[in-house]
Amino acid sequence: MNSKLKLQTVVIIALTMSIGFIADKNLPSRSYQPTNGDNLTIILMIGDGMGFEQVRMARFVEVGKNANLIMESSLQNFSVMTHNVNLGITDSAAAATAMATGIKTNNGRIAVDPDWNSVETILEIALELGKATGVVSTTTIQHATPASFMTHVYSRGNYQEITRQIVENANVDVLLGGGLEEFSAQQILDMTTAGYSYVTNKTALDSIASGRILGLFSQSHMPYEQERNFTETPSLAEMTRKAIEILQQNSSGFFLMVEGGKIDHASHDNEKVGAILEAIAFDQAVREAKNYVETHANSILIVTADHETGGPTIISENLDGSLPITGLTEEQNRTLRITRANQIEVDWSTGGHTRNNVPMFAFGDAFENIKRNMLIDNTDIFGAMNNFIHNGEVLFIDRASITMVATYFLYIILIPLSIILIYSTVKTMRYNKRKEKNS
Ligand SMILES: [Zn+2]
Repeated sequence: MNSKLKLQTVVIIALTMSIGFIADKNLPSRSYQPTNGDNLTIILMIGDGMGFEQVRMARFVEVGKNANLIMESSLQNFSVMTHNVNLGITDSAAAATAMATGIKTNNGRIAVDPDWNSVETILEIALELGKATGVVSTTTIQHATPASFMTHVYSRGNYQEITRQIVENANVDVLLGGGLEEFSAQQILDMTTAGYSYVTNKTALDSIASGRILGLFSQSHMPYEQERNFTETPSLAEMTRKAIEILQQNSSGFFLMVEGGKIDHASHDNEKVGAILEAIAFDQAVREAKNYVETHANSILIVTADHETGGPTIISENLDGSLPITGLTEEQNRTLRITRANQIEVDWSTGGHTRNNVPMFAFGDAFENIKRNMLIDNTDIFGAMNNFIHNGEVLFIDRASITMVATYFLYIILIPLSIILIYSTVKTMRYNKRKEKNS
């Protein structure tokens, strides 16, 4: 082998290796088992304000330091960037819009882009595909997160307009949460005329077995878990279970968004006990959704947050009380949780939101073969859901290593260069062979 040939071989090997390296880092990570069927189902759960540390705080209290919450039992953990369109700290409206529609917008906007254009949401796409839809929250159902999936409004504070759109569209089959004070008597009547069973307490909710439900359990936001009356007000888990029970009756599948909305409120107040109890209540709702997804092949569950609130850090703990367990009453477990939450010392860095990434946990067969521990953007959650709802597969790009330069380098320079080199190497080899023959 002459020296020119040797050099070319080395260059080809180096190029092939770098293509492999860049491709591994940049090409979309996908699941390779498309599930055919028209009943593709998505459950998206959003812990409002639930950062990694809120999850850790809830874990310490509920299961101890060395065990996992239900959401943490996922094999697929992602880290999600949450910035708004200006690369600033997001609010719930811009973050929910990103997840619902796949676009970045300004804070305060509900499923509209920075130029005020309405953008179709994943819930609306599900409706077009003939699926049942549901929205469940512990805040008012007009609040930024739930509103961003079913309405299009310039300002999140315009509750009247959000309520008007909910009533006029009357297209979300299950609506459970707070916000009764925003509905006029006529609007409630309009909803019942449109076929909704209207309920305002846990007993009435329990009695509904099918059809559409409007459940408004509080004038404004629902009460904190710390103050909830167990017999009158349904928990987030109970609302989630009922929503799934109703929605799964549609043979075309369903889209359900569930929000644990008050983790954010307690974190704004730097109230560790409140934040922890709300995060645990959210985790118990995850159990309901996880049970469904694990027993229904064409479904996925995504559990994430819109942003982190309060910037908490656990600085010490002296956890020695016993863990909450299934054998105890709800009241006994709540008392245990409050005791344990008070055994953790938490330092808060702000009364507002932070830039910190938030966790995402994923369940469902479609996630089985995709790369683990990826860094994604909140708009990618829409992309994955939109792909799944149409094709039965999820698709993510790992943003930890993606750069446009690397991608362009791969496609525009490296591949043609390799082809030229291989061509010229083959030519040189042939020439050498011919020379050998002739000599
Ligand atoms: Zn907030």
